[in-house]
Amino acid sequence: MYVAAIIVAGGRGARVGGPVPKQLLEIGGESILRRSVRACDGHPLVGELVVVVPEELVAAGEALVGVTRVPCRVVAGGARRQDSVRAGFEAVSNAAEIVIVHDAARPFVTRDVIDRVIAAAASVGAAVPAIPVADTVKRASVSDQSRVVLKTVPRDELWLAQTPQGFRRDVLARAVAAGQSADEATDEARLVEVAGGTVAIVDGDRRNVKITTSDDVTEARQRMTSMRAGTGYDLHQLVEGRPLVLAGVDVPSTKGPLGHSDGDVVCHALTDAVLGAAGAGDIGQMFPNTDPQWKNAPGLDLLARALAVVHARGWVVVNADVTVVLETPKLAPHLPQVREALAAVLGVGVDAVTVKGKTNEGVDAVGRGEAIASHAVVLLGAKA
Ligand code: MG
Repeated sequence: MYVAAIIVAGGRGARVGGPVPKQLLEIGGESILRRSVRACDGHPLVGELVVVVPEELVAAGEALVGVTRVPCRVVAGGARRQDSVRAGFEAVSNAAEIVIVHDAARPFVTRDVIDRVIAAAASVGAAVPAIPVADTVKRASVSDQSRVVLKTVPRDELWLAQTPQGFRRDVLARAVAAGQSADEATDEARLVEVAGGTVAIVDGDRRNVKITTSDDVTEARQRMTSMRAGTGYDLHQLVEGRPLVLAGVDVPSTKGPLGHSDGDVVCHALTDAVLGAAGAGDIGQMFPNTDPQWKNAPGLDLLARALAVVHARGWVVVNADVTVVLETPKLAPHLPQVREALAAVLGVGVDAVTVKGKTNEGVDAVGRGEAIASHAVVLLGAKA
């Protein structure tokens, strides 16, 4: 059986708010869209993907979706959901016998749910995963002034529909055609109903939630309990007459680091550590030393910019541990101030930042006072 998956990411996420469309928000270091695409891409029966995005995102589509196992097309959606699904369906190849349509906003769908949908779609023609309503359901009269229960609705016939919804190709073709003249439909099964078809219900999964509000995003991030570690290292040559700056703190010294920037080894090592932990590249890629913009850029500023990228990927710093290797002067008197400066920019308490000073015992360039070096380790946790 050859299955095509249409992933619908046509919405602009007005309910979540903020400038970034909901499907592009990251949870645990990966966008909601990518997780949803990956769930379909990873199913062994799925042979092709069509991702439907708002028109303005089509050009960036491949980059947004990332590398996929099976061929993937990115197409522009329409005004209504059924218009987006029609655009997606038109991009499906003739080889597809079954088409599944999945909300990009449901990144936690499991292989089991997709299995059940495909099997039922093949035998019945159309299938939706759904969960029985567990709460008591009220019908209410709602006005600006009041909300009053009119009656209690028997819930034994009520199910909450999820995605992916699955269809035999001919069934979805009729549903898409029916959708052109139908009222706005919030799912494809509704269009099959309009077209007079039968839709089977298979077991959904309560974890297969739809991320709709900013609370949903927060909850989804909390589910990603994963942590990420990163390391960083930096070294600068020391020369007479340059200031010695560590995490923005001036350390009185006859020598300071030679460098394109301020040579703040603590911030440079930490910048690499946080970027590395988040899988977001490194300091050289983000702030190329060929770019005059970064000449003499304060290390604290670079670290803050890197942290903004890391936060946007859904991570926060849990703790950081830094070692500075320097022959002279003694760093101990300055370390409390360095820790405080780092804690402020990292967004953690002072007890979550350690900075240790060491000498190199007179050995090698650092030991001869010709260079300063720093090592950093950070742990990132999923942003709540
Ligand atoms: Mg450096």
